[in-house]
Amino acid sequence: MVEQKRDQDSDTIAAIATAPGLAGIGIVRLSGPEALRIAETLFQGERKPSGMKGFEAGYGWIKDGGEKLDEAILLVMRAPKSYTRQDVAEFQCHGGPVALRRVLEAVLRAGARLAEPGEFTKRAFLAGRIDLAQAEAVASLVFAQTSASARAALRGLSGELGNKIKIIRRELMNLLADLEAGLDFAEEEIEFVSRERVREHLERNLEQMTELCRRAQAGMILSEGVKLVIAGKPNVGKSTLMNALLERDRVIVTPHPGTTRDVVEELINLGGVPVRLSDTAGIRDDAEEIEKEGVAKSRKAIQEADLVLLMLDASEPISEYDRKLIEEIKGIKKLTLVNKIDLKKKLDLRELGDLTGDQILEISAKLGTGLDDLRKRIQEMIWKGELAGEDALVSSARQMEFLKQAQSQIDLALKALAQNLSEEFIAAELRKAIQALNQLSGEALTEEMLNLIFSKFCVGK
Ligand code: GDP
Repeated sequence: MVEQKRDQDSDTIAAIATAPGLAGIGIVRLSGPEALRIAETLFQGERKPSGMKGFEAGYGWIKDGGEKLDEAILLVMRAPKSYTRQDVAEFQCHGGPVALRRVLEAVLRAGARLAEPGEFTKRAFLAGRIDLAQAEAVASLVFAQTSASARAALRGLSGELGNKIKIIRRELMNLLADLEAGLDFAEEEIEFVSRERVREHLERNLEQMTELCRRAQAGMILSEGVKLVIAGKPNVGKSTLMNALLERDRVIVTPHPGTTRDVVEELINLGGVPVRLSDTAGIRDDAEEIEKEGVAKSRKAIQEADLVLLMLDASEPISEYDRKLIEEIKGIKKLTLVNKIDLKKKLDLRELGDLTGDQILEISAKLGTGLDDLRKRIQEMIWKGELAGEDALVSSARQMEFLKQAQSQIDLALKALAQNLSEEFIAAELRKAIQALNQLSGEALTEEMLNLIFSKFCVGK
């Protein structure tokens, strides 16, 4: 599959690689066999691109049909020592969007094709310079919202996930080969590998997979953020809490491509973890609606949340609405908050404890009382008590799915072994585990999936 894809790489692609808007400099990037020829056509400077070595730069003007377009520095990188392993030319121009567009258009007229989102990185992947996990880490780094997510992405760039997968996959393949050899000679009762050794190996692999899953899960939290919903009856103080949290921890949000959002989410940075506070519009119904529909409207937001902050009013007894909501949230990870503790208390904390089975956090969203504790508790809930994240491996939902699949196949192989099933069944589970790992590392990806992955990148990356 990877071989087929190479054909498309004979195009020379180009894009504006810097962010849109006014800036000191902007870069138009070219990659492909024609990159240097196109640069040569447009660039007039002290030195000709064709005479420049890799990583050499030259000063000059970009001209199109006699018209000066911009003053620029040209940077040349020669195959295979470039990001894409192809010839790459980068024009460092002045950063105005119109000027950059004019340079890009000239480049396209000279024979380049406009790059698709992520196509430079896709080429780096197809040329074998980076594995798929690294390619996805590139996207995570570009979109990282907190420094902890950026650090996890950098660890991803080093290829740790890909390397770990490769090792586990090799071990599973060796084991499978032994098992299959044994199957071929089953009649003669020759044993190529003892069941005890298979068990030892599989147990070790399962342990490694479980550890990888844990670290990848942490990475996913860091890159995708945690979805947090504040739920409670009208006027309990949801908006006040949301604003209080946003005031101190708001993160400037860059749009994440590939996702369209109807609901407005605000992003806060809780100790390096991006937390998506969802707009409470779905929950802040007017009283009449609530009479009619109960808590039905907030149901969807709650069902999709990673963590729900269930909020009650300290100055009122537990209401019917509260009870319904508690019922609704059963089975979802939640934290119970009693708000407005600055007012005279009418709520029975013991009764609430019995209802929710939770430890209760008392706060005043208005005065800010208990909010530091709340932040700490949220972080603890995210990391399940451990202050993790430092060894997080950046990962996407796609990767996570295959990691879990491989983990459960190894687990099934062990179970088959424990139940004394024949080698045939163990081999079947191992094959499925290897297949999941192949999908993960990109060895067995379809064209469509590959395009989907890279379409989430921005143009020029
Ligand atoms: P929502 O409908 O749940 O979003 O509730 P709001 O955040 O709009 O708050 C409703 C009212 O309760 C507002 O007048 C807030 O000022 C008030 N309020 C919110 N939190 C507190 C608190 O901790 N103490 C007191 N005394 N009032 C609060």
